[in-house]
Parts: sequence; C-alpha cells; structure tokens
Amino acid sequence: MFDLTGKVAIVTGCNTGLGQGMALALANAGADIVGVNRSNPAETADLVQKTGRKFHNVNADMSKMDSVDRILKEAITAFGKVDILVNNAGIIRRNDALDFTEQDWDEVMNLNIKALFFMSQGFAKHIIAQGTSGNIINIASMLSYQGGIRVPSYTASKSAVMGITKSLANEWAKHGINVNAIAPGYMATNNTEALRADENRSEEILGRIPAARWGTPKDMAGPIVFLASEASRYVHGYTIAVDGGWLAR
Ligand code: NAP
Repeated sequence: MFDLTGKVAIVTGCNTGLGQGMALALANAGADIVGVNRSNPAETADLVQKTGRKFHNVNADMSKMDSVDRILKEAITAFGKVDILVNNAGIIRRNDALDFTEQDWDEVMNLNIKALFFMSQGFAKHIIAQGTSGNIINIASMLSYQGGIRVPSYTASKSAVMGITKSLANEWAKHGINVNAIAPGYMATNNTEALRADENRSEEILGRIPAARWGTPKDMAGPIVFLASEASRYVHGYTIAVDGGWLAR
C-alpha cells in the first residue's frame, strides 16, 4: 500500500531542508521526482539518483505566477505524467506586528498560499485530464493552529494552508484527488536558524517539546509516503501534525 513505484512526484523547494527529506522519502518508496527550485538542487539530485529513481529539476521562482504552467509542462515532458504534488516551498519573515512591512506581508503570502493554491489548481487540471487519481500534500505549520510571535504573515499564510486543504479536498475528492497537509513542528532547517540561534527562544521551545528534540527532515518520511500512497486513499482534507508532541501540551 505504501509502494510508489511508477509514480511521479513534484516537490517544490527541495534543494534543502524538509523538501529534500520528503523528495528522498518519496524516491525511496519508488517515485521519480520533479524538483522545483530557484537554487541548484545538486545534493538532492544525487541522493535521489542513488535510490535508483530519476530526478528532473525545473528551475523556477514559485512566487511568480507564470511558473505554474511551465512546471507542469516540463514535468510531463520529462516523465509523461504527474501523480503527486508536494507544496513545500515556503518562507518566513520576522518582525513586530507594529513594524511589519507590506513587502514582508506580500512576499510570504504570494509564495506560501497564493502559489500553493494555483500550483494545486494546475496539477488538479492535469490529473482530471489524465483520468487518474492524484495526491496533493501541502506543508502547513504549528502556526496553522497557533498565533506565533512576530510572524504575522507566516501565521496568516499557514492558517490559510490548513483551510484551503479542507476546501480543495471537498471539491476534488470526487475526482480521485486526495488533498491533505502535514504540519511540521519545530524542525532543524534554514527556516528555524534564527530561532535556534536565539538561546532563550531555543531553550523555551525545546523545553515544550515532549520528544525533547528538534525535528529533522527524516521525521517527514513516513507521513509523506503515507499521504502520497494508496494507504491514505480515504483520508481527505486532514492535516497531520509531525511535531514531537508539541500540540499535545
Ligand atoms: P528551508 O530550508 O528554508 O526550505 C525552504 C525551501 O523553499 C527551500 O528549498 C527554498 O529554496 C524554497 N523556496 C523559497 N522561496 C522559493 C521560491 N520563491 N521559489 C522556489 N522555491 C523557494 O525551510 P524548511 O524548514 O525546509 O521549509 C519547508 C517548508 O516547511 C516551508 O513551507 C516551511 O514554512 C515549512 N515548515 C517548516 C518548519 C520548520 O520548523 N523548519 C515548521 C513548519 C513548517 P532556497 O534554498 O533557494 O531558499
């Protein structure tokens, strides 16, 4: 049920961090990978190819609307079809709400929610045209559930990710498309570098995680394969927290 042999998975932002971990997990389960990156994903390409699967990179800035069509066309030219979409690319901007700029609002919202929606729309059109089933997995956050501090546009965007996951599941389940999300807890990647560098915040965060450690890209492997595979065929519109127990506190 967890076998992805013969499937094609698009993973946005997979040159590093959680995207790299998920691309590798999907390849280990048998999928060929289409990476979508603005930075060179050489390390990910190498790791995926070592599993025996293929890796095709599309160089694109996901915050630009014209990327969507090109990404899907390139994926289909490379592998003939698409089956799985992981909307992972995301950014964060930190500042007091009183000083927060329009640019920090727009850049985060454009990538984290607008691009995620239109990428999903383009993907769903292809799945329906192919007449196959498909799986969309959106990457949410603890700030899909909680308010956070000094990250207003990130909280707004990730709360919206959880909402749109339910909304798209409602419309597309009838087309055989499962739309779900993963909400990572506090994971050791570039995204949390500033937090981990702040001794007080880092200690506060770690003290609240029942698993008593930061998460890693490997912790995403099981949940991403589950949501990309037959094993989750009747799971629609749900967000799975992969958080070391953070939300249970
Ligand atoms: P990361 O290491 O900063 O990775 C983010 C990825 O998105 C990178 O590959 C980055 O590419 C890519 N990206 C950023 N802007 C892009 C753009 N305009 N076009 C294409 N790609 C772009 O952070 P991460 O922690 O792995 O984050 C992955 C996802 O998990 C994000 O959606 C993040 O919000 C979410 N998340 C992370 C945590 C955590 O604790 N780390 C917790 C909850 C949710 P570059 O390397 O070129 O910047």
